[in-house]
Amino acid sequence: MDIYVCVDCYFTHHYGAVEHDGRWYAGESDTPCDREPLSRLADWDADIADNTDSETGDGIDEFSWRSCEGCGSTLGGSRYRLAILDRA
Ligand SMILES: [Zn+2]
Repeated sequence: MDIYVCVDCYFTHHYGAVEHDGRWYAGESDTPCDREPLSRLADWDADIADNTDSETGDGIDEFSWRSCEGCGSTLGGSRYRLAILDRA
């Protein structure tokens, strides 16, 4: 299945995130995340894979208000498609 996540969750998938003073920072960003990135996926026993195509833009929503399926953030912004792969 596919989910759409915010840029913070997308960066966290690729670069990880660190917690500092109760706030979360994705990758090298100095801007705190809205919420803990990918927190909604923490309990899933599944692998996550990037499912976007940067050449065609497939799987990338330039702007959306839909809530992030990774952290629940409702801030408007880009959404990126991730594939959830069940571990067989
Ligand atoms: Zn998110």
